[in-house]
Amino acid sequence: MKSYLLPEFVIDRDDFRCIRCEVCVRQCANDVHWYDEEDDACYLDETKCVGCQRCATLCPTSALTVRRNPASNPDNANWTMDVLMNIYKQAETGGVLLTGMGCDRDYPIYWDRMVLDASQVTNPSIDPLREPMELRTYLGAKPDALEIKGEGANQRVKTRMAPQLKLEIPVMFSAISYGAVSFNTCESLARAATEAGTYWNTGEGGLHSKLYKYKDHTICQVASGRFGVHADYLEAAAALEIKIGQGAKPGIGGHLPGEKVSAEISRTRMIPKGTDALSPAPHHDIYSIEDLSQLIYALKEASHWVKPVSVKIAAVHNSAAIASGIVRAGADIVVLDGIRGGTGAAPTMIRDNVGIPIELALAAADTRLRAEGIRNRASVVVAGGIRSSADVVKAIALGADACYIGTAALVGMGCHVCQKCYTGKCNWGIATQDPYLAKRLNPDIGARRLTNLLRGWSHEIQEMLGGMGINAIESLRGNRQRLRGVGLSREELDILGIKHAGE
Ligand code: SF4
Ligand code: SF4
Ligand code: SF4
Repeated sequence: MKSYLLPEFVIDRDDFRCIRCEVCVRQCANDVHWYDEEDDACYLDETKCVGCQRCATLCPTSALTVRRNPASNPDNANWTMDVLMNIYKQAETGGVLLTGMGCDRDYPIYWDRMVLDASQVTNPSIDPLREPMELRTYLGAKPDALEIKGEGANQRVKTRMAPQLKLEIPVMFSAISYGAVSFNTCESLARAATEAGTYWNTGEGGLHSKLYKYKDHTICQVASGRFGVHADYLEAAAALEIKIGQGAKPGIGGHLPGEKVSAEISRTRMIPKGTDALSPAPHHDIYSIEDLSQLIYALKEASHWVKPVSVKIAAVHNSAAIASGIVRAGADIVVLDGIRGGTGAAPTMIRDNVGIPIELALAAADTRLRAEGIRNRASVVVAGGIRSSADVVKAIALGADACYIGTAALVGMGCHVCQKCYTGKCNWGIATQDPYLAKRLNPDIGARRLTNLLRGWSHEIQEMLGGMGINAIESLRGNRQRLRGVGLSREELDILGIKHAGE
């Protein structure tokens, strides 16, 4: 059958600049470029290009430009080229459209429609270079009140605190499973989290034995497939996270194809080599909040009551009510993952059409937990589209205790968000199990890039806090007075619980 698909990308090679070094030929796992010795020329097949920019980035003479195919369906906002190509693809394959990373539709990004306040005269700003600025954050249930015993210098806190996670910056690395990404990616995340005083998350793929040494900074996930969940795994966690859902694909399970299940992954996930790893959509033992509560307490019991247990859900219409149920079920941390949350593979229609933006879910959940008087009983962590330190500061002002970053962390290691993670041929060595590609990400460099990223964000968060006259991130949490909306409707402002700029 003749394919009607046009190449997604076009590549321009400047022949005057090209020195025929063949770097592009070696770097592209999609076999787009080749060199013909007889002609002493490089050729290309654009139909195979996924736009990952690896060749253009590494070309020593900057001879390559990779850009989206500008071909368009003239004057038709409804039947765009993307829509046509999707239909051609399905008419040719009869399959479900697959994609990777997060939703790329232009739904409003509320972070970009909110601005922060700054001090001017009566409440002066603080210079973070000269004065201490506290970013340390504790995640976990907080008591309603502190009971103090003793007098004067002998005063002691009598209240028994629930287990807490200590973060030096209110940013953690999202759940990204070994299998979806390479071992070197996991190691980069684990090392960076340890160095920066924060946490990385195993995702649902278990924990490779070589990464147990990072256990003090590891959050171990328990998902519906229970891959790699055993007593040592629970021991190796600083906190445990029950994954009910994820923002990229709410309501559906996961699928790691058998060809990606190598010997190492099979050992880590505790499944036979080469078999498909299918995570069911629901946990087959959770059909109510009471069932969820039983799993939370089972995990607390199994981990000797010294580790916080978190529950992660995808942000959907009623996530505020679900968050309330999760807190009442005994979770120490509630994680909300918005529609822009990334993934290794998801059906395109689910990724782009199911779920809600994290900003609205966060505001609604924080408002509800406060109204019910249970906000202190769990921390709220948000994920799904946190791109910068400014997003983090706005999330905290909106009510979050901390943020998870996934895509931003991968971008820090080189990802160019080509959204083709599901092919397993990530040219940046991230979303792949191909040993030749995986070694492109050196964990020393990956970890250094991530710690640099977090350091840069820390400085920026301190600057923004200082500008607002605040010297501790704790003082900003849920302080929506420090936010204003720009170009938002009254309804959106009401849900976000903020005033419009100028008010
Ligand atoms: S990497 Fe650049 S210079 Fe080398 S062959 Fe390719 S286009 Fe030419
Ligand atoms: S897939 Fe990536 S490396 Fe290959 S040609 Fe396209 S942009 Fe270059
Ligand atoms: S991880 Fe690799 S395959 Fe996935 S979006 Fe990033 S560059 Fe593309």
